[in-house]
Amino acid sequence: MTISRSLADIANSIEMLEIRCSRCGRTGRMSVAKLIDQYGPTTLLPDLGPMLVADCENAQAHDYAKCDVFYPQLGKMMDDLTG
Ligand SMILES: [Zn+2]
Repeated sequence: MTISRSLADIANSIEMLEIRCSRCGRTGRMSVAKLIDQYGPTTLLPDLGPMLVADCENAQAHDYAKCDVFYPQLGKMMDDLTG
């Protein structure tokens, strides 16, 4: 099951969004408020990923080697929501 969350959805739960790239191991934390300023509150997290790693060395690679962003915090948020 895939649930697509927007920046507005997570803004209530977290202040800093933790980001990881599964290919190159890059990690970072970004302010959700700043992300909303920059990309808009309705931007979905899956769509945001590729934009955040646009400067990754693998971001322009072909499918199998391409950077793949994930959000470590979201697993816990799902647990909270589903009780
Ligand atoms: Zn990467």
